[in-house]
Amino acid sequence: MRKKIVAGNWKMNTLPQEGAELAKNVVANRGEVCSCVNFIVCPPFTHLSMVAAELKGSDVELGAQNCAAEEKGAYTGEISAQMIAALGCKYVILGHSERRQYYGETSETLNKKMVQAYANNLTPIYCVGENLQEREAGEHFNVVKKQLEEVIFNLSEEQFKNLIVAYEPVWAIGTGKTATADQAQEIHAFIRKTLREKFGAAADDCAILYGGSCKPANAAEIFAKEDVDGGLIGGAALKAADFLAIGKGFAK
Ligand code: PEP
Repeated sequence: MRKKIVAGNWKMNTLPQEGAELAKNVVANRGEVCSCVNFIVCPPFTHLSMVAAELKGSDVELGAQNCAAEEKGAYTGEISAQMIAALGCKYVILGHSERRQYYGETSETLNKKMVQAYANNLTPIYCVGENLQEREAGEHFNVVKKQLEEVIFNLSEEQFKNLIVAYEPVWAIGTGKTATADQAQEIHAFIRKTLREKFGAAADDCAILYGGSCKPANAAEIFAKEDVDGGLIGGAALKAADFLAIGKGFAK
């Protein structure tokens, strides 16, 4: 039985106090949604302590949006996996398209970040997805396969058991355009098949989230698809009511 997961990526939004307030509201109203849904919030680094304090005693879990590729040392401005784990993070988003696009993150960097994440008992939420040009050229399967092969295929079987994959078509992120439920299912099934070729039956237990303009109005239809196990949510995660309402989208 795969986990049902709704993870919020706050990106570079909210001031620390506002983030704490948002977390408080998620916790206060979390009971409206089935306890079978796992909620994760990923605030900016600067908010982690305050948000962790708000989540204490609840089942809402904490993640970070990134971590350094190195363990520690002279890397000015970087935040290590060990640091975020020490602040209570259980998850870390890696390979988000904004990091790949604006900060030049390559598979080589991501392999190093994966090592750091697992060394600190963090579960990576590994993002894959094609841009508009690649989708229009019919290249999306190849792009996603490469992103999996170059990073995920380097994991051990043990590490793979602690992994969440997020399919996020770049053309749907923050654009208001959502992949149709059928488009999501088609590529989620492809991702699972690709993972099965490497990791066998363990791929059937891997949660694969959809991300890209997911909101309360479209979550139910997308989550109803067999290989969609939840969502990675950007904009709609910034309002507790919307974030929780997305969790109500699980009918299965
Ligand atoms: C994201 O960036 O992870 C994301 C899914 O953003 P949005 O929901 O705003 O499209």
